[in-house]
Amino acid sequence: MKIGILGAGQLARMIALAGYPLGLDFIFLDPSADACANKLGEHLHGDYSDPALLAQLAERADVVTYEFENVPAHVAEFLAARTQVHPAPKALAVAQDRLIEKSFFREIGIPTPAFAAVNSLEDLKRAMSTIGWPAILKSRTLGYDGKGQSVLKSVDDLEPAWESLQGVPAIVEAFVPFRREVSIIAARNVSGAIAFYPLSENLHRGGILRVSECRDGDALQKQAESYVSKLMEALDYVGVLALELFDVDGNLVANEFAPRVHNSGHWTIEGAETSQFENHLRAILDQPLGSTTPVGKAAMVNFIGGLPASDDVLKIPNAHLHLYDKGPRKGRKVAHATARAENSEKLSDLVRALTALADQVDDS
Ligand code: AMP
Repeated sequence: MKIGILGAGQLARMIALAGYPLGLDFIFLDPSADACANKLGEHLHGDYSDPALLAQLAERADVVTYEFENVPAHVAEFLAARTQVHPAPKALAVAQDRLIEKSFFREIGIPTPAFAAVNSLEDLKRAMSTIGWPAILKSRTLGYDGKGQSVLKSVDDLEPAWESLQGVPAIVEAFVPFRREVSIIAARNVSGAIAFYPLSENLHRGGILRVSECRDGDALQKQAESYVSKLMEALDYVGVLALELFDVDGNLVANEFAPRVHNSGHWTIEGAETSQFENHLRAILDQPLGSTTPVGKAAMVNFIGGLPASDDVLKIPNAHLHLYDKGPRKGRKVAHATARAENSEKLSDLVRALTALADQVDDS
């Protein structure tokens, strides 16, 4: 079986690494000559919307999936008309536009912050009377890791925030006074079976994920499972999906979802019976899903901007290093490490040691 992946970054690389033991082969389409998954399969080198390359990908792959959500709708539809594509183009369309996404959450009964569409400075001023302060203005599309976002604290912030978006359609949201940020990762196969991972508790800095910790037995697990299963069923979703949520005094409020494997699920490689990457493959191939049971206490620390010396990570007991074969660059995720421990105290020590290494190389 050959799996086609749009994109050949670290997520594609980790999907391929999980797929080899299952006897799978890979073909990637990516515009970058040195994309980090290239060595793990065939590489179609060129633009994502090149019809000749897309036709080749559809022809050569038994199933096509992707590692990023900003696949243009016409590309996903072109592929879906020629081969099996999971998740389906509809999930991309919803995830790509924050206004459509939040409206969809509301329609299916998943709570969201108050929000309003903003297409002009006047819209923004008008919306603020119902949204309340503080708030966040975000571009509707192409925003990630906090890019294209401004926090609005007073009337003086409105004009500069709107100007910074340079006229792109936007959404304004109430600022959620969250206690913590969590995500739930789940897999749904073609037959409709769903497997949920334990919640990940996520720490961001500057809008970028730094640390994710598995919270097995969390009091909000069932609430999160009910929301993510509603979402997957409403989209007839196939594959792994990550739903990012704010915990507001025990009530979950949805921020966004990623129709793909997710950074907050990297701990599952060593920290769960079956990784999110393997379960994504099993899901799109309609195979039985693997157990999501955690193996001890687990957490993941991202290395952003630069790499520590490998030995500094490897000498930490129970730390597992994952290098993405990417050069250092400001704000770029270049590697992560998973820490695994028998209890929470030991895990905290490991996370502290890894975070100290990550901070030394972080230039963002
Ligand atoms: P996003 O790109 O929407 O995932 O936002 C990046 C980060 O900004 C999130 O992980 C939160 O830390 C923060 N953030 C986004 N939206 C809100 C909100 N409505 N209220 C409070 N914090 C937010």
